[in-house]
Amino acid sequence: MPSAPSMLVVLVSNLLTQSIGYFAVVGAIYAVVWRLGRERFRFSRIPAPQRVNFAQIRREMGHTLVTLLAGGFSAGAVIGLDAAGRARLDHGAVAPLVVLGWIVAGLAFNDLWFYSWHRLLHHPSLFRHVHAVHHRSIDVNPFTSYSFHAVEAVLLGSWIVPAVVWLPVPMMALGVLQVLGLFNNVMAHLGYEFLPRWILRVPLLRWTNTATFHSLHHTRSRGNFGLHSRLWDRLFGTEIPDYEEVFVRRGAEAGSTSGTVTL
Ligand SMILES: [Zn+2]
Ligand SMILES: [Zn+2]
Repeated sequence: MPSAPSMLVVLVSNLLTQSIGYFAVVGAIYAVVWRLGRERFRFSRIPAPQRVNFAQIRREMGHTLVTLLAGGFSAGAVIGLDAAGRARLDHGAVAPLVVLGWIVAGLAFNDLWFYSWHRLLHHPSLFRHVHAVHHRSIDVNPFTSYSFHAVEAVLLGSWIVPAVVWLPVPMMALGVLQVLGLFNNVMAHLGYEFLPRWILRVPLLRWTNTATFHSLHHTRSRGNFGLHSRLWDRLFGTEIPDYEEVFVRRGAEAGSTSGTVTL
């Protein structure tokens, strides 16, 4: 059993490594899309009633550090449960098709987990004390992706704990799910819509989450609670009714949004 000081060293060094990796990836996406591509991508920019400024990004970076720390506790719980023989994680070699099946199952499980908690977090008391932190960002950008209150970060990230206790998830699938989760989150908070309009005409693709779908959640602060898909919102009648119209109309407002464009 490692001593308390050595546990602290492990926690701090993990947080440091994760933070450097996270900010390098998110910073690179921000630099390419928001700075270098600002002019080229202006017709893909999603409108918002108030524009992002450096104070918002500074605040988001601070909350991101809290989220990464909370993520370390979920990871620690999985490692601890696995070491104690309480997790059903599959460490063996698994066929690629099986791994793919587990990835799809994991995405579906996390999608429902996120939708359920997210709707609860919009209950007035939970919203005021917890979820408001994330919703302070109206004009979302890559740095908004992990900008959460500590309680929300633990709730949303802990889907992985029941998943590994109940299901024999292959290790490789778990790793891929973490990476997909990060990129989905950044895509949802990109502030730019790059998905083609025709995806709305493709049976399976039309149900995927998009940057427009989640941006509407931030600008209107209601509806569109989904993470990976629109399925749960459609099923429970919480989808913002004009989502598809806004998705198709993108670009029409370029240069005519209200508020100050500071970045
Ligand atoms: Zn919300
Ligand atoms: Zn968000």
